Amino acid sequence: MKDKVAQLESKYREKVMEHWKYLHMHPEMATKEEKTSGYISGVLKGLGIEHRTNVGGYGIVGLIKGGLPGPVVALRADMDALAIEEKTGLPFCSVNPGFMHACGHDAHCAILLGAAHILNELKEGLKGTVKVVFQPAEEYSPIGGAPLMIRDGALEDPAVDAMIGLHVWPILETGTIGLQPGPVSAASDRLKIHVKGKSGHASMPHTGVDAILASSATVVALQQIVARNISPRDTAVVSLCTVKGGSNYNILAEDVYLDGTVRTFDDEVTRMMPVAIKRVAENTCKAYGAEADVQYTSGYPTTINDPRIVSIAQKAVIELLGEENLLTGLPVPAGGEDFSFFSRRVPSAFAWIGCRPKGRPEGESPALHNGLFVPDEAAFPIGVNYTVLAALRLLDELGG
Ligand SMILES: [Zn+2]
Ligand SMILES: [Zn+2]
Repeated sequence: MKDKVAQLESKYREKVMEHWKYLHMHPEMATKEEKTSGYISGVLKGLGIEHRTNVGGYGIVGLIKGGLPGPVVALRADMDALAIEEKTGLPFCSVNPGFMHACGHDAHCAILLGAAHILNELKEGLKGTVKVVFQPAEEYSPIGGAPLMIRDGALEDPAVDAMIGLHVWPILETGTIGLQPGPVSAASDRLKIHVKGKSGHASMPHTGVDAILASSATVVALQQIVARNISPRDTAVVSLCTVKGGSNYNILAEDVYLDGTVRTFDDEVTRMMPVAIKRVAENTCKAYGAEADVQYTSGYPTTINDPRIVSIAQKAVIELLGEENLLTGLPVPAGGEDFSFFSRRVPSAFAWIGCRPKGRPEGESPALHNGLFVPDEAAFPIGVNYTVLAALRLLDELGG
C-alpha cells in the first residue's frame, strides 16, 4: 500500500503546494476564516466529497465513504492564522498586512486536502469511512474552535471511532515524526489577580495599604506553589507577565492588576492549581492588609494521545520513514493545542511533523509564531503520506 500511496502523493504533490500557497497568501484570524473555508469547500466540491460547512463557525466536515463497511476515522487540520507581520519575503507572502500563517495551519490544511485527494481516489477499497475535519479558531484560547465543532456534531453522524491530527514542528528535522502516547500538549489557563489596598501618602505608609508591596509578595509566593505543592515528578509553570498599578511616585498604590498564565501537564495538577493559587494569593495579600480578587479561567486541557491509536499510527511512520525516524519520549511542549478537546472525546493520536530543513541547525530555524516561520517544503509529502497511511491502518486494525 505504501507504494500506491506514494505514487498518488506525487500525482497530487503540485496540487498540495498550490493549496498551501493560496492559503498562505490569505491568512485569516480565528473565527474569521470565511475565505479559507470557502476555498476548502470548493476543493472538496471539486473532488465530489460530500461535506457540511459552518460547523462550529467556519468549520467543515467532509465524508469519504469507503466501498466496504468498517470504522470511522477522523483526520483534523486547523485553519486559522495569527496577527503577526510576515517577514519571510516569500513570493506567496501574506496579502493581508499584519496577518500571517505563522503557526503552519495553512500547511495542515494543504496536507489534509492532499490526503483527501488520495483517500477519495482509493475509496472503493476503503474499509470504513474517513471524516475530514477542517477546524477554525485553534488560536482562540480559552474557547477554541474544537469544542464548537463538537457542539455542532462534528464527531457524530457517523460517530467517530478514532482521530488523528498533526502539527508541523520546526524543532524536528524534516524526515522525522514525533509521536508518543500520553500528554502531548500543556493545559494552558489564564490567571488575573486584582490586589486591592488603600492609597495614602508615600511618606506615611502606616496610614495606607500598599498594593504594590502586597502584589510583589504574591508574585513571589505563587512561584512557591510549583516548588512546594506539586510532586517532584510533575511540573507546572506559573508566569505573571503584566503588573499594572500605581499613579504617582509619592502615592501608595491602591490597586494592582496582575495578569498571567498557568501551564500544567497532568489533570490532577491542572485541577489543583486554581485552588492553590487562590489560597496563596488571598492569604498573602491578607498578611499585608490587602485583598486579592483572583480570576482563574481554565483554557485548553492537555492533549492526550491514546496508546492504542498511537501504536497503530506509529506503524505508519515506521513504514514511511523507518524506525530511526520515529521520535518518541520527546519533552511535552508547554504550549496549548485545542485538538485536546477531540482527544478527550475519541481515542486520538497527535503527531509532530519535522519541518526543519535537513542540516540546518535548530537555533537557525524560525520558531512557530515567528514572522519568519516557513515549514520546509519537503515536509509536505511526508505529512500527506503519513496521514493517508495512518488512516488506512486505523481503518484496517480498528475494523478487526
Ligand atoms: Zn499556534
Ligand atoms: Zn498551531
